[in-house]
Amino acid sequence: MAAIEMVNLTKHYKQGKNVIKALDGVNLKIESGEFVAVVGRSGSGKTTLLDLLGLLLRPTAGTVVIDGVDTSKLKDGDRATMRGESIGFIFQEFNLLPTLNALENVMLPLRYAKKDPQGPARARRLLDEVDLGDRVTHKPTELSGGQSQRVAIARSLVNNPALVLGDEPTGEVDSETSDQLLDLMRRMNREHGVTFVIVTHDMDIAQRADRIIRLKDGKVASDEPIAARELALS
Ligand code: ADP
Ligand code: MG
Repeated sequence: MAAIEMVNLTKHYKQGKNVIKALDGVNLKIESGEFVAVVGRSGSGKTTLLDLLGLLLRPTAGTVVIDGVDTSKLKDGDRATMRGESIGFIFQEFNLLPTLNALENVMLPLRYAKKDPQGPARARRLLDEVDLGDRVTHKPTELSGGQSQRVAIARSLVNNPALVLGDEPTGEVDSETSDQLLDLMRRMNREHGVTFVIVTHDMDIAQRADRIIRLKDGKVASDEPIAARELALS
């Protein structure tokens, strides 16, 4: 499980004479085991926020603290280790390797983390958990979009990460499949105690998170925990 603290988290891009404030002084705390949706218009900074949380980008200012570790103080190699061992990723276009079968795709992140003799057995078990136990040797071209994303969800969990990040993980599938993928992610969040942060522009999906963070022009425009939304509705 991961508790995440964003402190004055800032990412500016220089474009000629202009500075694009992709993320501008964000302060947020996400507790261990939360399921958070990040929403906002295109260009509001959602992907930048997620890439900073995933240690794929370094902030211009501020920091991300993961389980008490100030990641801005880590060297690149230590950031890569933390990324490989503690963070799982789910992408909009699934990003499965076409030459590998489902099981091999799930096992791929095992290469980037400390060797774990339980890894291959866990990969197999995760495929059962995402209900693809009968598709282990299927290649990505032999899987539907929803099945492909289920493989990707299993892959995101194979290193027992504390945190899973998803950038539009339901962006490529129809709404019924979207709903099923959200069921699955919520179940994995509950059963594995993993913190989830997903970006979505689909409010039906966002409404099923514990909390909705809305970005606007690189700043937090609103931050609503589900408890508050339930109170507002009652
Ligand atoms: P979102 O995911 O909400 O659509 P992004 O985080 O991708 O938003 O982008 C936020 C802003 O930062 C946008 O204005 C975008 O054009 C700009 N931006 C993102 N990445 C870069 C980059 N590598 N170089 C310059 N500008 C960027
Ligand atoms: Mg984006």
